[in-house]
Amino acid sequence: MLRLPKFRYLQPKSLREALRMMADAGTEAMYVAGGTDLYPNMKRRQQTPKVVIGLGQLEPLRMKRGKPEDGMVLGAGLTLTEVCTDKRVRGSYPAVAKAAELISTPLLRNMGSIGGNLLLDTRCNYYDQNYEWRKAIHFCMKKDGEICWVAPSSPRCWAVQSSDCVPVMVAIRAKVRLVSTSGERMLDAADLYNDDGIQHLNKQPEELLTEIHLPPANGWRATYWKLRRRGSFDFPVLGVATCIKLASDGTVETAKIILGGVGSHPIEVLAAQKPLLGKKLTRETIQEAAAAAYPAAKPLDNTDYAMAWRKDMARYYVAGTLAELGGLPPGGQPPEGPLVGISSPN
Ligand SMILES: Cc1cc2nc3c(=O)[nH]c(=O)nc-3n(C[C@H](O)[C@H](O)[C@H](O)COP(=O)(O)OP(=O)(O)OC[C@H]3O[C@@H](n4cnc5c(N)ncnc54)[C@H](O)[C@@H]3O)c2cc1C
Ligand code: SF4
Repeated sequence: MLRLPKFRYLQPKSLREALRMMADAGTEAMYVAGGTDLYPNMKRRQQTPKVVIGLGQLEPLRMKRGKPEDGMVLGAGLTLTEVCTDKRVRGSYPAVAKAAELISTPLLRNMGSIGGNLLLDTRCNYYDQNYEWRKAIHFCMKKDGEICWVAPSSPRCWAVQSSDCVPVMVAIRAKVRLVSTSGERMLDAADLYNDDGIQHLNKQPEELLTEIHLPPANGWRATYWKLRRRGSFDFPVLGVATCIKLASDGTVETAKIILGGVGSHPIEVLAAQKPLLGKKLTRETIQEAAAAAYPAAKPLDNTDYAMAWRKDMARYYVAGTLAELGGLPPGGQPPEGPLVGISSPN
């Protein structure tokens, strides 16, 4: 059995106290919400904070406010269950509800928070192993080592952005609020992420994520498709979040297509969005967009399934999300492969 290392646990009662504790503890400290990512990482000695600051008693992180027509604000400490069962979220932000609902198991969704999901550590088969396993291969660049076992001549880490909610938040243009003793700032969700497996967040360690701002639900639609081995429990090895707005004549006014699980950051596929603008969603325009998404998906051999198949599936999923949003039946057959655990379109 893996055991947690020794650490000091602090339980602030207010936001101000939490920020002060973090400022005092400095780089030794990390925040914890549900702990469903941090504690397993600590058990495997991937993350080793000496001080852990629990967010469970901070009421401001547990609120929901606003109306979908003006935009809703979700406290970062809301559990995934609270998010995906909320009537307003389900009714007006179904892609957010769907992504949260597809995460892991009911027990973990009762513990895991939406904020923790947006700040999930990047994942890799050579990193998500216990200490002895990693030691046996002399560790890797992301923690304790020097080399990247996925791309040995690479100067960077290619660990994978594996959160289900991240691609959706980026696709719908959500924003996040980050707070520390030095002040606070609002950031587009897209700007929170970096294409680097180690420095994957544009966030200072002391910054607390307090709120997630969902935009007004005014005519755009979005959906999320997730690929994983088992229909429950597993992390995404591909996630496609697509958001479109149609003009009154049925042509596409705006489109955002974001790939998750195939890079160190959520990848916006500009080349797939362009051919849709000003056109109706037809089988032809959808195929054109899906074909353009194929080169953008660059999965590496550091998660589940063969990379070539995951790349093929990106094309199929982009087409599938667009067909769903356009009210068309899903066209074509998925590429041949181990077709199990596809969590969409249902
Ligand atoms: C078996 C298993 C399966 C899983 N499957 C999936 C899956 O399919 N999809 C998926 O997306 N995730 C999955 N997860 C990961 C995890 O359960 C979720 O991502 C969850 O939402 C993380 O939230 P948390 O509150 O538990 O995060 P924590 O573990 O508490 O924190 C995660 C990180 O965020 C930081 N943090 C948390 N809250 C804040 C805040 N408010 N401000 C600043 N920093 C903060 C922590 O310091 C830590 O670095 C799985 C986990 C397990 C163990
Ligand atoms: S991508 Fe390379 S450096 Fe990053 S976690 Fe995997 S093996 Fe380590």
